[in-house]
Amino acid sequence: MNQVKRHVETKFIHGSQRGETSTGAVNTPIYLSSTFHQNSFDAFGPFDYSRSGNPTRQALEDKIAELEDGSRGFAFASGMAAISSALLLLSAGDHVLVTTDVYGGTYRFVSEVLQRYQIDHTFVDMTDLNEAARAIQPNTKAIYIETPSNPCMNITDLTGIVKIAKANNCLTFVDNTFMTPLYQNPLELGADIVLHSATKFLSGHSDVIAGLAVTRDESLGEKLAFIQNSFGSILGAQDSYLLLQGMKTLGARLKQSSRSAQVLVDYLNTHPLVEMVYYPGIASHPGYTIHQRQSKGTGSVFSFQLPNRAAAKAFVDHVQIPVFAVSLGAVESILSYPTTMSHAAMPKEEREKRGITDGLLRFSVGLEYTDDLIADFDQALQTAEAYTDVKSSVS
Ligand SMILES: *Cc1c(COP(=O)(O)O)cnc(C)c1O
Repeated sequence: MNQVKRHVETKFIHGSQRGETSTGAVNTPIYLSSTFHQNSFDAFGPFDYSRSGNPTRQALEDKIAELEDGSRGFAFASGMAAISSALLLLSAGDHVLVTTDVYGGTYRFVSEVLQRYQIDHTFVDMTDLNEAARAIQPNTKAIYIETPSNPCMNITDLTGIVKIAKANNCLTFVDNTFMTPLYQNPLELGADIVLHSATKFLSGHSDVIAGLAVTRDESLGEKLAFIQNSFGSILGAQDSYLLLQGMKTLGARLKQSSRSAQVLVDYLNTHPLVEMVYYPGIASHPGYTIHQRQSKGTGSVFSFQLPNRAAAKAFVDHVQIPVFAVSLGAVESILSYPTTMSHAAMPKEEREKRGITDGLLRFSVGLEYTDDLIADFDQALQTAEAYTDVKSSVS
């Protein structure tokens, strides 16, 4: 019997293997066992101790490997645990190029932890391939990118970066959190390691902190497995189960919230109070063409700029549906204020260079009824508008 083709939407629900064969349970059992009895004195079974391997975690690791078209998947206690563990593939004396608008936790790990182990770094604007190529040093071993990046949705040319990396014997690491395997497959484009904060879209319900990594090359997979087991920052069985459940609906969730995002973006783009909207689905976005080439969707996160802090505050105070919080990629819409949330540690001048002004808000669209979100934005912007007028006539 020929196997029927499975698109990624189908794979989110059914992997290539029928899950639990002994009972037929449609959900992966949660194996709450730290250790495993060995039936034979000299031939051990596939599992011995749950740091090294656990059947629930294994099901998740196999699933993300299949979704990303890799050969091995790894589940970690957080996105940062996945990212840090992957970066521990580097050794003292090595150098890594990192995108300037990298996730804040990655910025901190590279600049404050790796630095202490003599692993050097250069932050580079990866939207400029010439600048990336120029920053390569004889000891550069890896290039680390995010596309789209946070919060201004800058697009990096994945194929272009991979070409530079390969020409210089470097590995390419891609944080694929914003696009997920539904919309972007960096391994297909030649990247070596794909990373996810599975806390976001993959889990989708704001109930678990988790990270995933995927490799395609067997020997690189072996090295990362060694680090996962040595460093030990693994995902527990119960969280692995939650994540497996969340991933089943990723296709439906992300498509719906991406559709709503496009509607909200179109609305904001014509609103007089909104100075700028950052979203890779806007044709005038500088990375639009590259993103269309390397991704199948534009996602459900965008940022928009109001005139000043007072307007942003009035909007946050009056909007009713979204939660005001850090994080993204959940069933509930999440509104955040990068200036005091994700980018609080960055000096104002550095922030503003990256477009993160005091009027910038980031929005992760959830699964609420689209017109409810539009109506909510409309009434909150009306208030913000009135407030801005009063303020600007005073100052
Ligand atoms: C949230 C996030 C991370 C960190 O993941 P945690 O699960 O919070 O450790 C890394 N990269 C991106 C792009 C993120 O949004």
